[in-house]
Order: sequence, then C-alpha cells, then structure tokens
Amino acid sequence: MPTYIVLLGPPGSGKGTQAKIVSEQLGLVHISSGDIFRYNISQQTELGMKAQGFMNRGELVPDDLTIAMIRDRLSQPDCNRGAILDGFPRTPAQAEALDATLAGLGGKVDSVPYIHVSPEILMERLGGRWSCRAQGHVYHEKYHPPKTAGICDIDGSELFQREDDQPATVEKRIKVYLEQTSPLIEYYRKRGLLYEIDGTREIEDVTAEMMKAVGKG
Ligand code: AMP
Repeated sequence: MPTYIVLLGPPGSGKGTQAKIVSEQLGLVHISSGDIFRYNISQQTELGMKAQGFMNRGELVPDDLTIAMIRDRLSQPDCNRGAILDGFPRTPAQAEALDATLAGLGGKVDSVPYIHVSPEILMERLGGRWSCRAQGHVYHEKYHPPKTAGICDIDGSELFQREDDQPATVEKRIKVYLEQTSPLIEYYRKRGLLYEIDGTREIEDVTAEMMKAVGKG
C-alpha cells in the first residue's frame, strides 16, 4: 500500500523544510504545489501563465487548475510508493478531490502532521525571506542569513525577495490561509488523522515530532 502524508500548516511554518527532510528519511517523493507552480512560471507554460497573477497577489490558484496538476503528478511512476504533499490541499474542495484521487490509486491519506505557528511570528519569518535566482535556495535576514549579504552561499547567485514574500503579499497569504485553508484542520481532525506540532521549536525537534506523526518516531 502506498503511503500518503499531507503536511498542513500556514505559509512560513517551515512545512517545506520539514517536507524535504522527512521525504528523504522516508524515501518518499516530496510534492510541493508551490514549487510546481513556480517551475511552470519559469518555463512559461500555459499553467504557469494562468497561475502567475494569483500567486503574485497572494491568492490561491483556482481549484480546477490545482487539482488537475496534482492528480497528474500523483499518477506518475515515482509516486507509486506514495508521497508527502506540501501545500496541497489548501481548500476543502481540494481535500475531497485528493481523497477521490488517492482512492483511485488504491490509497488514502495516512497522516496529517499540522505545524502551527502564530500569525505574528509568520509575518516576521516570511517578511525576511530571500531566495536565490539560480535555484531558489532560501535564506532569512534574521534566522538564516547568507555568509555574504545578497549572495547565495551554495551557488553564488543573487538573492532577491520573491514577489509573494513581500510584506503586503505575506499579509494577504496569511489571511487567505486563515479563511480558506484552516477549515482543513477540522476536516482531518474529524477523520482522526491530525497530529499537532509546535512549529516554533528547533528544526530537529519539529522533524522528530513529524516522524512520530507518521508512525516512524
Ligand atoms: P507556497 O510556496 O506553498 O506558499 O505556494 C505559493 C503560492 O502558490 C500560493 O500563495 C498560491 O498562490 C499558489 N498555490 C500553491 N499551492 C496551492 C494550492 N494547493 N491551491 C491553490 N494555490 C496554491
């Protein structure tokens, strides 16, 4: 049976970082809907062009586009052991579509680690975030500064602030999360799948909790 893990948490909760670590530890594919959209934008695909405006405004990309994209990704052969979903679902309609898609693949959502962090801390975390032009390596002014200001430690490319990490957009993304995504906390709690994790702890501590949430800790 494939294993599917849905990682829930607001933007800036450290979901992406944890998804990377845990996917390596478990040998599962990491599917980040935000990364797939950003890749499509960089390649100027039809999907990328459609998604770009919504993303730059801090809004959600419409469900039909997002659901089709994830359904396609989950049906690829590298996902046959399962996947860690990071950033999807983000609306109740997406959660229902995911249940149907996984049932079609002979699986189901197995666990839902939920990393929670207060909106005030999120503002501080996201507002200080910088990414590198070449490969999207992420830094933070306060928590993870590069060795040389404005330059990526790993590939030497220039650092810039993603349009959706700029303060007004960050505020909007948090509002959108509270309104549209937070109902999923109840959706998964009711199904007995939710495992709450304090996202203000150290990265290693959050990872240890994540492993417990997925039954490997
Ligand atoms: P992220 O990197 O996960 O914060 O995603 C960046 C942006 O991509 C979001 O602010 C949305 O505009 C878009 N996006 C990512 N995942 C989804 C989703 N599941 N549903 C709708 N929009 C999404």
